[in-house]
Amino acid sequence: MKQTVLVSGGAGYIGSHTAVELIGAGYDVVIVDNLSNSDMSGVEGVEKITGKHVTFVEADCCDKEAFRRVFEQYEFDSVIHFAASKAVGESVAEPLKYYRNNLTSFVNVVELMHEFGRRNIVFSSSATVYGEADSLPVTEQSPRKPATSPYGNTKQICEDILRDSVAAYGSLRGIALRYFNPIGAHPSALIGELPRGVPNNLVPFITQTAAGVRECLSIFGDDYPTADGSCIRDYIDIVDLARAHVAAIDRMVKGQSKQPYEIFNIGTGRGVSVFELVTTFERVNGLKLNYKVAPRRAGDVVAIWADTTLANRELGWHAERSVEDTLRAAWAWEKHVRGIE
Ligand code: NAD
Ligand code: UDP
Repeated sequence: MKQTVLVSGGAGYIGSHTAVELIGAGYDVVIVDNLSNSDMSGVEGVEKITGKHVTFVEADCCDKEAFRRVFEQYEFDSVIHFAASKAVGESVAEPLKYYRNNLTSFVNVVELMHEFGRRNIVFSSSATVYGEADSLPVTEQSPRKPATSPYGNTKQICEDILRDSVAAYGSLRGIALRYFNPIGAHPSALIGELPRGVPNNLVPFITQTAAGVRECLSIFGDDYPTADGSCIRDYIDIVDLARAHVAAIDRMVKGQSKQPYEIFNIGTGRGVSVFELVTTFERVNGLKLNYKVAPRRAGDVVAIWADTTLANRELGWHAERSVEDTLRAAWAWEKHVRGIE
């Protein structure tokens, strides 16, 4: 029988790509989203790519009664919880919005799973929990560092909520996926990242600059202790990241988890500097980008990339797409959004 997965926040960037991969792997999906940072184009894109109707419920996961109705109405054993607010800077300015949304929605989903006896949950965590790491690459055993933003703190608190709930409630199993830097778009260019306002993240800023929406990209710092002076990150293709969720769900559904609560790094295992990313974008897309060096951005770590050995071995998952392919897809998506030929 077909298994159904509840995808909270599934109208958003990572959720929509994950819905496509889940459907491709034979799962049915129910998407719950309050459209606070997305619109129906993500869900419509999933339907176009897969040729399948997607069940969509517009609801706020913080509204427990509305969320309970979703549990009453649909039979599913597994949940992927993407629903959260994610702008680091905004979380510093409005911490309570972040604590309320990210923590309340997560407590609600875990409570309802417990109440309804639903078993498997994947939580969207982040490499931000490692802060400025003492040694690189980071493994899942690398210590978490005190969070530098309320957003980052919500990721650590939710990891702990999941760990403690799984320990207490025998039927529950959980996997936290610590994403490194998700970038790119589906190769069909039918879904991708749709930041509202001025993008905070590097790749949307690059593609919007290339499209003429932004005048100039600022590279935040060229005097870091790295080979070319810019920061280093592990940029993971969005489709590869989406497939990691399918692998995590498969693992729990098949009862292959080694522990009731597990954590996996999801990255490529390779660090790329800001300058490298910019020049690769220019090269593979055959264009010149207007950029300048600007002062360092507060709160940025110098360098981080993942040791992905555990995910490779235990989930049987590997990042497959090259950064070149990913940056081509990112540009194709931006052109699609802007109507550029
Ligand atoms: P996104 O904003 O595109 O998607 C999140 C979705 O959740 C949006 O569609 C939004 O409308 C919805 N949502 C928010 N609060 C909700 C609520 N209370 N009830 C129902 N829906 C709600 O963001 P994304 O990039 O797809 O991120 C998904 C998850 O991955 C988030 O938890 C984010 O913190 C985490 N994450 C993202 C990144 C990244 O760089 N994109 C990195 C690490 C972790
Ligand atoms: N960055 C930049 N200019 C921008 C946005 C980001 O130089 O307009 C740099 C940022 O300083 C960091 C890297 O790009 O070194 C990745 O930033 P992003 O915000 O995408 O992800 P983060 O790793 O900070 O979560």
